Amino acid sequence: MRDKYDVVVGLEIHAELKSKTKVFCSCANTYGAEPNTLVCPVCLALPGTSPVLNKKCVELTIKSGLMTNCKINEYNYFERKNYFYPDLTKSYQISQVKVPICVDGYVTLSSGKKIGISDIHLEEDTGKLTHIGDKSYIDYNRGGVPLIETVTKPDISSADEAVEFLETLRGIYVYGDIAECKLEQGGMRFDVNLSVKKKGSTELGKRVEMKNLNSFRSVKRAIEYESARQIALLEEGKEVLGETRKWDEDKNENVAMRAKLATAVYRCFADPDLPMLHIPKELVEEIRKDLPLTIAQLKELYTKEYGLTEYDAGVITANKMFSDFYNECIKLYNKPKELSTWVQSELMRNVKDKIKISPEHFVKIIEMADAKKISRTNAVPLIAEVMKTQKDPEVLAKEMDIINSMDDSNLEPLIDALIEANPKAVEDFKTTPDKIITFFAGQLMKQTRGKANVVKAKEIILSKLQGK
Ligand code: ZN
Ligand code: MN
Repeated sequence: MRDKYDVVVGLEIHAELKSKTKVFCSCANTYGAEPNTLVCPVCLALPGTSPVLNKKCVELTIKSGLMTNCKINEYNYFERKNYFYPDLTKSYQISQVKVPICVDGYVTLSSGKKIGISDIHLEEDTGKLTHIGDKSYIDYNRGGVPLIETVTKPDISSADEAVEFLETLRGIYVYGDIAECKLEQGGMRFDVNLSVKKKGSTELGKRVEMKNLNSFRSVKRAIEYESARQIALLEEGKEVLGETRKWDEDKNENVAMRAKLATAVYRCFADPDLPMLHIPKELVEEIRKDLPLTIAQLKELYTKEYGLTEYDAGVITANKMFSDFYNECIKLYNKPKELSTWVQSELMRNVKDKIKISPEHFVKIIEMADAKKISRTNAVPLIAEVMKTQKDPEVLAKEMDIINSMDDSNLEPLIDALIEANPKAVEDFKTTPDKIITFFAGQLMKQTRGKANVVKAKEIILSKLQGK
């Protein structure tokens, strides 16, 4: 039944910009403060105040457009989108409706398919309502926080494609330092527009909108649920109504909310407080020149130039914090593969939310291990200690007493004793030599608390065992 129909999906994505202050006033743009502490007469819309546009927000919006292949409108303007709701003190939202900053771009999926972007516009967020029992609470801290709204063309044809698009877009915004896109904090929110049509037909079906989804998972489920619902209706010979439906995450279904509103009911008009915005071509070129690499570009650099595997490149780019750190370290230590292993093992196991070691200190530790001044095993606690104290690794290594101080000539008697004490292992050397050498080296490192030169030790162990 499903294969008789095409599913047609367009997405609208709201992302909070990573600016220090709000979009039209100088209140801090910070998440998680005490309610109603980050407000001022402007974002509370007290009489006699008027908005002043934050230049940084415009630059970030331009950047979002350039990174998604959009054209930048040299002249664009803000409109008032009028409606009453308690989370909106002005009774209108300042947004861009007819002429936004960015138009006509696209994002490429792994299949090579391009998902068109009709526009990216800059607007302000509303306050936040919380309903507890029969009471409602309003926090205006979020009122006036800068948002970019990315509107796709109806090019998406499945739930999986929608999720891949969203993951790619989030990667672009995070890597571009445009938005943090923290879904759990509402930093990125989604509206889904969906219709179905007979396969191959050019006539689009009636469109249903589902607003304010806040996870990739709910977008996926909402698309699966709604396309099945519409197909079932058409199969029964019933009509799909153009409406807005509310997605219920707990029940895993959606319910009718209201008939879809036409843009006209918002009675939009140009905001008389904000002049036409002129974006000089020079500014666009300046931003274009400084565009950071996207995840896809970084992966290409890592695999083609640095010789990392796809897998390793994927692990490091999965978190911008680690790829930024890797990029800094590579300037100081030009062995990309070794560095990748160090970042993925010794570094990652020491890091929870922040990398509290400088690239300089980290590379110094790698070089100490390369020079056999410390063992690789002891590098892990050393990194942890540098993160705690910010002290120089060399000084700390001395304090921690982990500098390889064992003279190689002292190794022999220790190894002789170990071989003497483990006749079974000596026997097994004939069948599994590598395993046994590692075993003896491990025992030796334990005895010497990691201070022996492990390469030298392995040499001695091998020659002794071969002589048996
Ligand atoms: Zn304010
Ligand atoms: Mn919007």
